[in-house]
Amino acid sequence: MQHEWQVSILTPTRTSSRLATEVVRSLGVTDSVVTSDVIDFVIPQHQGHPLQLECDARSLEYDSELHTRYEEADALLGDYGILHVVPSSRNQVPAILSTASMDFTMACSNCSFGARQVNPHTMPKSGLRYKGEFYHGHPGTNRLLMRRRLADLIVDATGVDNFLRPSLLPDGSEAADWVDLVPTAEMPPLSTGSQGILVNASRANTDLGDPMEEFDPCPICKRTVWGYSYSEPSRLEYSRASTKDLTDHVVLSMREPFNFFPRVTTKTGKYGPLYGWPLLLLQTAAVEAIISHIRFPGPETWKGRQQEHGWVEPVYVK
Ligand SMILES: [Zn+2]
Repeated sequence: MQHEWQVSILTPTRTSSRLATEVVRSLGVTDSVVTSDVIDFVIPQHQGHPLQLECDARSLEYDSELHTRYEEADALLGDYGILHVVPSSRNQVPAILSTASMDFTMACSNCSFGARQVNPHTMPKSGLRYKGEFYHGHPGTNRLLMRRRLADLIVDATGVDNFLRPSLLPDGSEAADWVDLVPTAEMPPLSTGSQGILVNASRANTDLGDPMEEFDPCPICKRTVWGYSYSEPSRLEYSRASTKDLTDHVVLSMREPFNFFPRVTTKTGKYGPLYGWPLLLLQTAAVEAIISHIRFPGPETWKGRQQEHGWVEPVYVK
């Protein structure tokens, strides 16, 4: 994995713009984006301190966020993995998960967290023409549809098939060759050994340098929102004791929803029925079974139309 600072130096005046250009040059940056009041660029983690010195010496204001690029070699480092896939830009219409896909019987009466996805996505008919291995799930959920042959590889590797649901078409028939991965268990809260994350807060909806957005935990179930802090490398961790009863599950959901939520329905002042999207975790054996079908980003990813690409964020049990 590569940790990189995404930097913005503020350049409200011509002088600050000239000084910022000096900083960019002194750090050996060859690629920057210049607009009227800011210069944006990326530097490796070890250049964070030199950046600070160079900007302080010139009294320049800047903001920076530490992001991680995961590579193929990182995918199997953990006990679980979060699969991130960006389908090709030819696929613009995501599949939809309706409230009928959810079972709310175990959900918190206040916030609906703990609702389980029990039925699959409905994919648009145009999705059948998509040639890639993964298809976009419901917007904002980070869930994916997967080619059945990949899911079969996971079943072969793990001996578990209870997470599989054939995806549907708008007329209710099964979408040939596409399946949903449905979580069969919920993880416990993240361990306090996790690093680089915000609890009860998110920076996802804020601009660089703005304060993070804070969320109160649900007063009933105490669930919280988490997001990356972008101030140090992130590492998601669970305690071994809290996960020992979950080892038979191949696809699990996190307990804490990721970033934007809770989303409150302003009309009623209550949380919407589909609020809260905890990310899915795959057992590393499942990741290993399909890793050769994940196209890790390379130079060709961005040529012309964006190619389908993905990566796996390792999650640890300790
Ligand atoms: Zn709750």
